[in-house]
Amino acid sequence: MAAPPPAWQDPEPLALHTAPVPEYGGGSLADLLPTLVSGQGVSVAGGAVIPELTPADRNCVFLIDGLGWQQIKDHPDEAPYLTSLLGTSRGGTGRPITVGFPATTATSLASVGTGLPPGAHGLPGYTVRDPATGALMNQLRWRPWTDPHVWQPYPTLFQLAHAAGVHTAQVSSPTFERTPLTEIALSGGTFHGRLSGEERMDLAAAQLAAGDRSLVYTYYSEVDGKGHKFGMDSDAWRGQVMYVDRLAQRLAEQLPPRAALYITADHGMIDIPFDEQSRIDFDEDWELRAGVALLGGEGRARHVYAVPGAQADVLTVWREVLGEQFWVASRDEALAAGWFGPPERVDERVYGRIGDVVAAAHDDVVITASVQEPRESAMVGMHGSMTPVEQLVPLLEVRS
Ligand SMILES: [Zn+2]
Repeated sequence: MAAPPPAWQDPEPLALHTAPVPEYGGGSLADLLPTLVSGQGVSVAGGAVIPELTPADRNCVFLIDGLGWQQIKDHPDEAPYLTSLLGTSRGGTGRPITVGFPATTATSLASVGTGLPPGAHGLPGYTVRDPATGALMNQLRWRPWTDPHVWQPYPTLFQLAHAAGVHTAQVSSPTFERTPLTEIALSGGTFHGRLSGEERMDLAAAQLAAGDRSLVYTYYSEVDGKGHKFGMDSDAWRGQVMYVDRLAQRLAEQLPPRAALYITADHGMIDIPFDEQSRIDFDEDWELRAGVALLGGEGRARHVYAVPGAQADVLTVWREVLGEQFWVASRDEALAAGWFGPPERVDERVYGRIGDVVAAAHDDVVITASVQEPRESAMVGMHGSMTPVEQLVPLLEVRS
C-alpha cells in the first residue's frame, strides 16, 4: 500500500486510486459458482470464469465465515490440513481470491449465490439506506422487513443449476433455513438444517453423491463469531480454527468419485486495538457528524448518507479528518473506480443504497458508533474494507 500523501498535497487522487479494487470478473468470490455450474453445462448469462479452475461433475463449496487467506497462512499449527492445501499439492490448487467490497458476510454470500458483484445484487453493505423509505436496512438480519425479491431480483445459481437438472443442496444451520438472505442468495434445490459441524460435513458428502451432477453448499460461522468477540489472538478463536480444519478434512475424506471440494470464505479479519486513535467514535465526533443524515455500513466500510445539499461538505470533511487512514470517495468516485463491481454492471436501483460518501479503512482503524451500534462497536475483530487481509480468501481445492 502506498503511504498517505504529505499534508500539503491534494490528497484526492492518491487517496482514491490506491484502493486495491476487488478482482471482479474472474478472480473474485462472485465468479466461483458461475465457474462451477458452467462447467456442469448450465448456461450462465455474462458470467466470468476463474482461470485454470476445472470443475468436477460433483462440486461442493464449503464456506468458512471469516477465515481469510492470511489467517490460514499465519496459523499452520492450528490449521494443518488447510495449510497443506495452500499450494498445488493433493491434486488441487490453493490460491487466494478477492471477496468484493465491502468484505462482509451479507454482501459476500449474495455474491456467492448470485454470481454478481455487490453493485448488481444490491446488498452493498452490512447496513445500507433503503431509498424507498430513507431508513437503514440491516442486510444480515433483514430489518426492517423489505420484500426480498424486490431488493434482489436475480435468480440464484443454485436455482439455475437445479432447473438444469443438477442435484442441488445447501447444508447449514437450521437457523438460516427461512431467512430472506437465504431466500435471495442461497436457495435452489433443498436446504438441510443441521446443528453440528460434523453432521453438516457428513450430509454435504452424502448430498454430493446423490446426483450424477451435483452442487452442494455448506457453511460454518463460528470462526467469525469468536474473532469478533475475542479477537484472533485468543484461545477461543484458535480453537475454532482447529475445529474447522478437522471439519474440512472430514468432508474431503468423504468425497464421492468425480467430485471436487472448494473451501473458501466470505472475508478475512483484523483485530482493532482499544484506543482512541484506532477507534474513532462517530457518535462523539461533531466534525464527522456535521451534515450526516445516516451512518451505514460497519466500522471499516462506512456508507455516509448526507443531508440533502451537504454531500460535498461531508466529503471534504471526511477526507480531511480521515484521509490518511481511510480511502474516502464520493458515491460516483467509488462506482467509477469499480469498488462495487465493474461500473457497467452496477444497477441503477442500487445507487441510492450506496453512501454519498464511502469510507474504507486502510490502516488498523475503525469508525465506531457507540450509541447507535453498541454491540458492533465493542467487537475486537472487524472486517469490511479492501486491504489484502480482509479481501483475500482461500480458494482451496480437493479432488476425489
Ligand atoms: Zn463477521
